[in-house]
Amino acid sequence: MDLISFEEAYTMVMNSAIEAEAETVAFTSSLNRVLTADINSDMDMPPFNKATVDGFACRRADLGSELELIETIPAGKSPESRVGERQCSKIMTGAAIPEGADMVFMVEDSAILTSGKVIYRGSFTKDNISPRGEDIRSGDRVLESGRLIRPQDIALMALAGHTLVKVSKKPVVAIISSGNELVEPPERPGLSQIRNTNSYQLMAQTERAGATGVYLGIAGDDEAATFEIVSQAISGSDIVLISGGVSMGDFDFVPSVLERAGVRLLFSRINIQPGKPTIFGIHEKSMVFGLPGNPVSSFIQFELLVRPLICKMMGYHWDPVIINLPMESSYSRKSSDRRALIPVNITGNGYVSPVEYHGSAHISAFSNATGIITLPEGKKSLEKGEIVSVRQI
Ligand code: AMP
Ligand code: MG
Repeated sequence: MDLISFEEAYTMVMNSAIEAEAETVAFTSSLNRVLTADINSDMDMPPFNKATVDGFACRRADLGSELELIETIPAGKSPESRVGERQCSKIMTGAAIPEGADMVFMVEDSAILTSGKVIYRGSFTKDNISPRGEDIRSGDRVLESGRLIRPQDIALMALAGHTLVKVSKKPVVAIISSGNELVEPPERPGLSQIRNTNSYQLMAQTERAGATGVYLGIAGDDEAATFEIVSQAISGSDIVLISGGVSMGDFDFVPSVLERAGVRLLFSRINIQPGKPTIFGIHEKSMVFGLPGNPVSSFIQFELLVRPLICKMMGYHWDPVIINLPMESSYSRKSSDRRALIPVNITGNGYVSPVEYHGSAHISAFSNATGIITLPEGKKSLEKGEIVSVRQI
C-alpha cells in the first residue's frame, strides 16, 4: 500500500468517524463528557436585584444625611419595609434590595452615631447592586451542544436546575499489545524480554481522551492467536488499537491478520517520524488501528489520530493547546523526506529545547518532554531563535 501524507491519513480517519449515541446521566457524573443538547436557564440570574456587598441600602440622594435604620435583611430573606427618605436598611451580600433603595454603601464606609442613626463616611461609592437578569435571562442558552463539560459548566447545570443531562456515549476502545518479548508489569522480564508499557500508556491516553479502554492482553507473534484476539476486539468495541507487529519483520502478522479478520485497510504507512508503519482500517462499525510497537511512536500516533477521532465520535472538535515560542538553540536532522515530530521542553525563560532522545523506544526521555514540535517534509533544520509551534502533550 502507498506511503501517504499525514494530512491524507488524518482525513481518512476523521471521515470514518461514526457518531456515538447519546445517553442521559446525572449532571454530577458528566465531567469530561460531551453535551448533546443545549441547556437553557429556567430563571433570571440574579433572580432579584441583589446586594453585592455587606452594607446599608438607601437612596443615593440621602448619602449626606443621617439615616434611620429600619430593618436588617440577611441573604435568603425578603425585605419587609420600603426604604423612604433619610432611611436605610442593613443588608448582607446576596440579599434582595428593598423597595425604595437605589444603592448600597459598604459597612467599611459607614459609622453608627450615638443616636443610633447611620451615616455614610466614604467619598465615592458604586451602587453595589446587581440587577435582576444582569448575568442570565430566563430562556437564555447557558451551555451549547458539543461542549466538553468542565467543572464550571457543572455549576451552570446546577444553576439551571438541570440535574439530568444528555451526553454522548463514551466510545469503547479495545487495546491489544503484540509481541513474544512482552511480559506484564508485575513480572520480571527474562533474558530478551521487556515489560509491556504500551497497553497501559494507551489505556491512560484513552481515558484522558474521554473514552472507555478495555485491555484485552498480549497477543504472541503467531497468526492464530493474533487472529483470535483481534476478532474478539472487533466484535465488542468501537475502536481497536493493536500495538506492535505492524512493521516489516518476519513476525509482523498484524496487517495480514486484520485483512483475514475482514478489516478493510485504508492505509498502512504514513510519511511521518515516528510512526511510519501506522495502519488504519474499518470493519463494519469498528475502526482498527495498528500502531507501531515503540512506545513513543504509539503515544504520538494516538495523540495525532486516535484522540481527535474519539472526540469527533463524541461530537466534540478537539484542538490541542499550541503555543508559539523561540528555539533555544539550533536543531538539525540528516534526512528531511518525512515529517518529524520532535519531543521538546519549554525552558524557564520561555525557550523551546528538544529533549535529548535516542529514538522512539526512549520513553524516559519522552516522559520528560512537555510538548512536541513538527518539522515539515523538506525542512532539515531550525535556527536558534526561530519561532516554533509547540503542541502540549
Ligand atoms: P514491533 O512493531 O513489533 O516490531 O515492535 C517495535 C519495538 O517496540 C520493539 O522493540 C518491541 O519490543 C517494542 N514493543 C512492541 N510492543 C511493545 C509494548 N507493548 N510495550 C513496550 N514495547 C513494545
Ligand atoms: Mg513485535
